Amino acid sequence: MHKISRIEIHETLAHLERAIDNHQRWYETIVKILVCRLPFESRHAADGAYRECEFGKWYYSDHSRKLRDRAGFVAVEGEHERMHNMASRLLREMEAGRPLRVEDYEAFAASLANLRIQLMSLKRELNTALGDLDPLTGAYSRISMLTWLREQQELVRRNILSCGLTMIDLDDFKAINDTYGHLVGDQVLAQSSAYLLEHIRPYDKLFRYGGEEFLLCTPDTDVETCRTMVDRLRDGLANTPIFANDAVIACRVSCGVALLERDQPVEKAIERADQAMYAAKRAGRNRTHVSEISIRQ
Ligand code: GH3
Ligand code: MG
Ligand code: MG
Repeated sequence: MHKISRIEIHETLAHLERAIDNHQRWYETIVKILVCRLPFESRHAADGAYRECEFGKWYYSDHSRKLRDRAGFVAVEGEHERMHNMASRLLREMEAGRPLRVEDYEAFAASLANLRIQLMSLKRELNTALGDLDPLTGAYSRISMLTWLREQQELVRRNILSCGLTMIDLDDFKAINDTYGHLVGDQVLAQSSAYLLEHIRPYDKLFRYGGEEFLLCTPDTDVETCRTMVDRLRDGLANTPIFANDAVIACRVSCGVALLERDQPVEKAIERADQAMYAAKRAGRNRTHVSEISIRQ
């Protein structure tokens, strides 16, 4: 699934709210035209009307690209198209002077009701996603972490995949706060998290574990792949200057890698990743260590 940022979710929610409102008003206009037999603009009865309304333009544009693998987003398409097509049919029948069939009108009204439900359920899905994201960093908050890890562990148990866990802790972050102030510290946190989110795979998940600590969950990685991947991330981040106010800051992190075990609580794996991260700190920071238990496997 595409990663979608908080800003993109907010943008999408705004589009959905407008879509619900616009389609309600558009529906009322169509009903008025039909009941009072008023002249209407040809766009209402055009074949591709569903692509031309404000929502359709957004839906089929590049702006909604990241939503296309969401079932809720896909479900909206059929209902939206059907509703516009039904309106076109009713308008053309009226224009041709033919009587309108009750079933056609009822199908049109039911389609609007269904579209509202689809849009509301997509809204709910996105609002939930918003609640799961930490506001400052855009990483997943801890609320959903254990549930997610337990689901991954189920896949490990069934031999479907092995799964790496990495604790990532910013180095000497207190000194950044002390030197540049808390607001700059916030920007460093937000930008380093943005770097990590941009450079992980779509099915990896980054959680904000604590203040300046993140837990990265990488399904389908063994311990060596995970170490290589994490070390590339760490190195890339350290070499990407962070511009915050007038300061240019290099953000270094220490990382500890462990594997999710099939027969131990996920909390144990987190603890091992944490211990490996502390070993990386003791060894001088800005490096990646692997939990010894995971190496032996
Ligand atoms: P180490 O390399 O050993 O990890 O040193 P450190 O300074 O990063 O670690 P320490 O635990 O001493 O300090 C972490 C600091 O992170 C202290 C805390 O005030 C700061 N911090 C935690 N959350 C936030 C936040 O949301 N914003 C800012 N600006 N600072 C935060
Ligand atoms: Mg810490
Ligand atoms: Mg730290």
